[in-house]
Amino acid sequence: MQFTIFTNKPGSYLAMKYYITFLIILTFSTLMTAQSHYHTPFETNSNYTPTYQEVIEYYHALGDTFEIIDISPFGMTDSGFPLHEVVINNSKDFTNQNDNQVLFINNAIHPGEPCGVDASMLLVRDICLGKLAIPDNMTLVLVPFYNIGGGLNRSSHSRANQDGPEAYGFRGNAKNLDLNRDFVKCDSKNARTFNQLITKWNPHVMIDTHTSNGADYQYTMTLIATQKDKLDPYLSAYMTETMLPFLYKDMEEKRWEMIPYVYAKDIPDNGIIGFMDYPRYSSGYATLHNVISFMPETHMLKPYKDRVLSTKAFIESMITFLTQEGGKIIDIKRDAEAHVMHQESISLNWELDKENTTQLSFKGYAAKYKTSEVTGQDRLYYDHDEPFTKLIPFNNTYKPTLTITKPEAYIIPKGYTNVIERLKWNGINLEVLESDTTVQVEQYYISKYETVDKPYEGHYLHYNVETRTVNRSWKYYKGDVLVHMHQPGASYIANVLEPKGPDSFFAWNFFDGVLMQKEYFSPYVFEDTASELHSNNRELKEKFAIKKAEDPDFAGDANAQLRYIYEHSAHYELTHMLYPVGRILK
Ligand SMILES: [Zn+2]
Repeated sequence: MQFTIFTNKPGSYLAMKYYITFLIILTFSTLMTAQSHYHTPFETNSNYTPTYQEVIEYYHALGDTFEIIDISPFGMTDSGFPLHEVVINNSKDFTNQNDNQVLFINNAIHPGEPCGVDASMLLVRDICLGKLAIPDNMTLVLVPFYNIGGGLNRSSHSRANQDGPEAYGFRGNAKNLDLNRDFVKCDSKNARTFNQLITKWNPHVMIDTHTSNGADYQYTMTLIATQKDKLDPYLSAYMTETMLPFLYKDMEEKRWEMIPYVYAKDIPDNGIIGFMDYPRYSSGYATLHNVISFMPETHMLKPYKDRVLSTKAFIESMITFLTQEGGKIIDIKRDAEAHVMHQESISLNWELDKENTTQLSFKGYAAKYKTSEVTGQDRLYYDHDEPFTKLIPFNNTYKPTLTITKPEAYIIPKGYTNVIERLKWNGINLEVLESDTTVQVEQYYISKYETVDKPYEGHYLHYNVETRTVNRSWKYYKGDVLVHMHQPGASYIANVLEPKGPDSFFAWNFFDGVLMQKEYFSPYVFEDTASELHSNNRELKEKFAIKKAEDPDFAGDANAQLRYIYEHSAHYELTHMLYPVGRILK
């Protein structure tokens, strides 16, 4: 089509008018096509969250058109489908660049809580269309759908207490594991892949999106920030003094006022406590790699639309903060890594400081009781006709209860391949022994432990572990693995290798082989040996006599007495209850 515009001929005005009208229509229709083409399913129906396939197709459609976004498979999941990573970078460099801040977002770990799935699609689309900017020194990495197996198990019923969306996936993955308990033990392929993805990107900030359960209150968005007292002090100070105040203020200005995750024993009026995110959880796991991590938890009773939009607003607030700060977090993370490498001790467990209480202004609903039509007994309800704002107690300080001295290195017998491979997925530098050698080590004997009665996420988890320490020379073999502690992953290493750690590999049953004695004795055969040992070893004889005098049950139990002598002899196996990972001290 040709148009004559700049002419004085009569009728040229008409031509110009047509041309302008044409331009307007063209622009409008191009915009409309782009908009409708990139409309997300949520925008058509705000109570709908897309299926796994729809999500991946959507990102592929964006990836086919816009150069700043890349979507590609990264590793496998238990569902048989690969995990996808979506990477957005203004300079179209989809590798991990040294001087970039990496914001990492994980969605649909619990597919019944999919607000982050929809929020991320809207967010990425807005970035692609130029409606939202990310700074040039940022790489945005998204896992669009983490728990694919759970996502494929779609229904409208598994979240009994939730208002929408109309259909959604299930919490358990393809092996019925809760992936938000699996980050250390890695029973799922999803978690194995995720560990490697965190190693690949070594993010500065991670956001793992959720929807809450529990009490009713006015807020749509609640926030779990990783427990400040177990985060490295450099990162912790930056998070609590600079980042969190900005996020709370910015969200309030956007009319999405937030409150810390409402973790309460009963009703929130009586106070809430800071969530302790142990390493089994996404944020607690990421923290071990010096990542400031969040689990935003939207409220289950708020309309799905609000949950999606507030999640999107939260991610946008984080982008705004990181943009304004200009990349300060890059240096702070480097400081934290240097600190972790050099620090003398590492804390592994904490308890709530009940004395350290602050007051939090809280917007709730009056908690009331009435007779239940089902049980005939008192039932709790929150009265929306009686909203309130009042101060409630907030306890968010934790004191360390277990702090270990950092060894120079750990040494792991090569047979523990399941331990060694997990260290590798986490980017831990390992040194393999080139020949058999004898090493002076500190070793732990497991002196006490308790075990849960029922399987917890596929394991009989141990807790309240106690150890006794011995120092001696011990033989190690070619192929055994040295793990030096002078590396940024030192916190991860100590948390998984120190047996008393609440999420250690010991706690998760990786070393249960040592908890059972392998050789025994027959009392009638051992009698003569015992007699010989008893008479030839003065120290043993004395200890034995004291034990007999002090313990009447022991004095009356012949087998227990023989066992005592056996256990104090060279016949008793050194490796029973011996934790196989040695500590090499400075
Ligand atoms: Zn969740």
